[in-house]
Amino acid sequence: MRALVLKDFGRMVVADVPQPQQGAGEVLIKITAVGICGTDVHGFTGENGRRQPGQIMGHEAAGTVAATPADSGLRVGQAVTFNPLITCGACAPCHDGAEQHCADRRVIGVNPEIQAAFAEFVAVPVPNVVPLPDTLPVAHGALIEPLAVAFNAVRRAGVGAGDGVLVIGAGPIGQSVVLAARDAGAELIMVSDINAERRDLCARLGASTLDPTTADTATEYRARAGAAADVTIDAVGISATLQAALGATRPGGTVVLVGMGAKRLEFGAFDLTTMERSLIGSFCYTRADFARAARWAGSHAAELAGLVSAELPFDQAPRAFEQLAGSSPAPGKVLVRADW
Ligand SMILES: [Zn+2]
Ligand SMILES: [Zn+2]
Repeated sequence: MRALVLKDFGRMVVADVPQPQQGAGEVLIKITAVGICGTDVHGFTGENGRRQPGQIMGHEAAGTVAATPADSGLRVGQAVTFNPLITCGACAPCHDGAEQHCADRRVIGVNPEIQAAFAEFVAVPVPNVVPLPDTLPVAHGALIEPLAVAFNAVRRAGVGAGDGVLVIGAGPIGQSVVLAARDAGAELIMVSDINAERRDLCARLGASTLDPTTADTATEYRARAGAAADVTIDAVGISATLQAALGATRPGGTVVLVGMGAKRLEFGAFDLTTMERSLIGSFCYTRADFARAARWAGSHAAELAGLVSAELPFDQAPRAFEQLAGSSPAPGKVLVRADW
């Protein structure tokens, strides 16, 4: 089968590799589409140190069941996505519905020994497979994983009805955060990003937008909203954005850091302490978040489609990685079609 192999940092190739064997308790999925995640791009360049040469990446994917154990409740041909977190199911976090904290957590698309979804087929444990609502084009099921990241961030932020929410960073995660914050009842959602195309995309999702190169984010948010934000979600994660997030958030409010733009950050400590703001980290999602994101997608298929910037044939994926690692990122999600 065809697969996209990270040959070396900065070099991706389409290679012919053996099709994965369906192990006991596994579902073999024929991939329709895989999303290119920012973490894949940073893994491709070697920047984040979380991917290894020789690896087949891909953790945002959807396809159809090619083979399944008889007792799985799934059927051949059924449209599915998968939760890439493989967890033990037996430890305290797994029991308590915080599976992402499982000490034995492995991630399809991150752990190099697992063949992931930039391929024509992937084998996934039965509990990780999530059926797609039939209102959704199969390829768009690849958007459910980043949407689950956003549902987790918004839940951890405690966004509630009537809240004012600032989102810093209008890339694919920021875009999904807009949708998740709206679902949580936020009254005002404002998005700050330097990229005009990304701001436009968020405006189409119903958010107000601001350009931090022409106005100070915190000042502009307060002026236009008439108050500081109840919650700010930083989907960039560099010192400047975290500082802006603190400045834009009301005393006692919450800042969630989900962007991973830098490994170390510097910010005004007193902006956190004296205003009793909460700073919360957010990374993956629970199984419940993932299921909720899938259900939400089923009833909002048209909006979800608005997050897709391009769908490319498999052979063009290496070039897409190079372009995304360059200076002009796509405004929304780039999907690689394994069936094209
Ligand atoms: Zn991702
Ligand atoms: Zn566990």
